[in-house]
Amino acid sequence: MKKLLALLLIITIAVLPSCTEGRTEVYTAYTVAMDTSASVTVYGGNKQAAEDSLRLFEQLDKELSVTGEGSLVYFLNKNGEVTASDNLLYLVNQGNILKQETNGAFNPCIYPLVRLWGFTTDDKKVPSASELEAAVTLVSASDVSVERDKVRLSDGALLDLGGIAKGYASDLMAQLLAERGVESAIISLGGNVKTLGTKPNGAEWIVGINSPKGNGLVGTVSVGEMSIVTSGSYLRNFTENGQLYHHIIDPATGYPADSGLVSVTVIAPSATLADGLSTAFFVMGKDKAAECAEKLGVDVVFITESSIFVTKGIKEKFTPDSAIEGVYTVEYIC
Ligand code: AMP
Ligand code: MG
Repeated sequence: MKKLLALLLIITIAVLPSCTEGRTEVYTAYTVAMDTSASVTVYGGNKQAAEDSLRLFEQLDKELSVTGEGSLVYFLNKNGEVTASDNLLYLVNQGNILKQETNGAFNPCIYPLVRLWGFTTDDKKVPSASELEAAVTLVSASDVSVERDKVRLSDGALLDLGGIAKGYASDLMAQLLAERGVESAIISLGGNVKTLGTKPNGAEWIVGINSPKGNGLVGTVSVGEMSIVTSGSYLRNFTENGQLYHHIIDPATGYPADSGLVSVTVIAPSATLADGLSTAFFVMGKDKAAECAEKLGVDVVFITESSIFVTKGIKEKFTPDSAIEGVYTVEYIC
């Protein structure tokens, strides 16, 4: 089914005409990789750069996928050591920094737990308490280290870059576009949006934040060149016996994080950082996450069942949607 969807999208690209917005040429290219429908829109006519940035996204998927048999991460998890690419070295270092900054809420070696829940397979299931206990013990003792160009795992540890790979990909894609002379573009990789420059008319981009209830937007943020990354329990999950289980795992319990949050959007210049933090903040819960966000100088939109909390740094940039009245209250924090 995924292959069919990918094929359909590729065919769509081939027949998509470019169009113009005002007098600026607009071109959007699409693909599917990292389990995500991806699009890149460039303004000003550089179609090849848009296509090439998506080829880069596909290559990064092949290199960093935890399940793809030819990937470096797959090889590392199988052998405990690998001669790494620059991408892998950078991401392992970032993963370890995030682990430290978030007090272990982000754990780059979360894979034994993710695998147990079946989130990277077609067989999602609730593991037994003893399986979870063993995996929590393993993950908490896990370590991934870098020595020159080698990446090494401690005994039994398994790396999973799913919490930061899309953010990193969008950072590299934006860099590629900029190097090709693109001054105005928007990259969208599922919940990861990255903007380049401003809109062609010099105005800020307006980026929507989806409602976790699946009915439109809760609001928009206006930004210049920025990364806007969302982690949500509504994005990847399954239901068993009426209970929803989602893909963001609390390394301390082994269960899907139960912090009262249903969506976290981080707004920061670096998409790698925003991606890692959105995953970690989801685990940490609003209060601890807000403290960490203030320390790191990033802005956040937290959503619970009935409230939206927006950090004060983006108060003027956030516009709640009129449809949320009576559904969510909005509060500005920090
Ligand atoms: P995201 O959608 O960016 O929040 O990332 C979710 C993905 O990150 C999951 O599908 C896992 O591959 C991985 N992941 C889940 N929980 C964690 C965690 N606590 N720390 C690091 N990565 C995680
Ligand atoms: Mg993330």
